[in-house]
Amino acid sequence: MREEDMIAAAEEAGFAKAAVMSTEDLEFEHEFRMFCEQNECGNYGNNYGCPPYCGTPEEMENRVMQYKKAVVFQSRTPVNNIFDDAETKQIKKIHTRMTLRTVEALRKNGLDDNGMYVMCGPCNMCEECKMPAGEPCVQEQKRFSCLSAYCIDAAKMAKHCNMDMQWNGDIVSFFSIYLYDKK
Ligand code: SF4
Repeated sequence: MREEDMIAAAEEAGFAKAAVMSTEDLEFEHEFRMFCEQNECGNYGNNYGCPPYCGTPEEMENRVMQYKKAVVFQSRTPVNNIFDDAETKQIKKIHTRMTLRTVEALRKNGLDDNGMYVMCGPCNMCEECKMPAGEPCVQEQKRFSCLSAYCIDAAKMAKHCNMDMQWNGDIVSFFSIYLYDKK
């Protein structure tokens, strides 16, 4: 599938912007793992897609680098209160669903179907992750991890893709990736 067609389809699906880049141009900062460990989001050790369960920074980077290409999706959404976790959590969920739907449509038009997602937040395939209850993950093949868990420098990625990273008082911006073209 042509890159320009993927970008056009993603923007038609509702993303503010989309871009295709080489995984060689992604930058990994393994020390970002300490932000996960600080656990401000509350998902550290509470979601199978999050650290420490998801893997070390080295393992996460290696997982990404199995692929040559990345299609990057950006949403920009108006918010009432940018500091309201419940509101931004809901927007992340919408962004995730839009990514899954868009990639599904792109796959029907020829995009690799053995790619991998990197999402904007913790795995939310279930209403509540099974991990805190000590139950096994119910969708191991489909669960995903976020940009932070992969230690991807999102600001550098956005700059490379010519995307406006800025969060201001009433707009929240999220990113997700679909990796394809396995080496
Ligand atoms: S699929 Fe469900 S149980 Fe597995 S990581 Fe995602 S939310 Fe948790």
